[in-house]
Amino acid sequence: MAEPLPPTGPRIPGIGLAKGLAVTLRTMTKKTVTAQYPDAQPDLPPRSRGVIGLFEENCTVCMLCARECPDWCIYIDSHKETLPAAAPGGRERSRNVLDRFAIDFSLCMYCGICIEVCPFDALFWSPEFEYAETDILELTHERDKLREWMWTVPAPPALDPAAEEPKEIAAARKTAEKLASATQAQPTDPADPQGGDS
Ligand code: SF4
Ligand code: SF4
Repeated sequence: MAEPLPPTGPRIPGIGLAKGLAVTLRTMTKKTVTAQYPDAQPDLPPRSRGVIGLFEENCTVCMLCARECPDWCIYIDSHKETLPAAAPGGRERSRNVLDRFAIDFSLCMYCGICIEVCPFDALFWSPEFEYAETDILELTHERDKLREWMWTVPAPPALDPAAEEPKEIAAARKTAEKLASATQAQPTDPADPQGGDS
């Protein structure tokens, strides 16, 4: 047997319309939160994960990023090149030369592992996200395109003034100081090879 419907009061004509108008009025007075993209560009945080840029000069083709990528969507090809010895009698050296570096963004899940594991700072996040394609094959970005994204990578934030000086900067500063003191110690007058000492 069906349960009886709860008792209802007398129906006021137009109550639904009044409630709807009240909602409209409340919403009109609130701050707008909807961004009218693409007419209004979103104000993204600097560490947004949009696309990955490749700074090719830093890449040593160590393959760490490709091996660690959970989606196997980084494709790297390379060959070995033999370089002559730096000094007579020295040994020849070999190095990896990059032939292909591509990321398939149709597979990428934007985890950032490749950027984290790169030991040579060759991969960077760019907040750029407008690269949708109608052809899925176009979502595989080759090295030239990955290099182009580097121009959209934001500058790193300034160092904390209270932070310890980075090792690289400390080493460069010491080298510059040594060079400066060595230059000062050299004689300035060609007629006086002892630098003015008698
Ligand atoms: S962000 Fe993650 S899924 Fe995308 S290429 Fe890098 S490691 Fe692979
Ligand atoms: S981990 Fe870095 S250096 Fe190694 S292949 Fe990838 S991008 Fe190049």
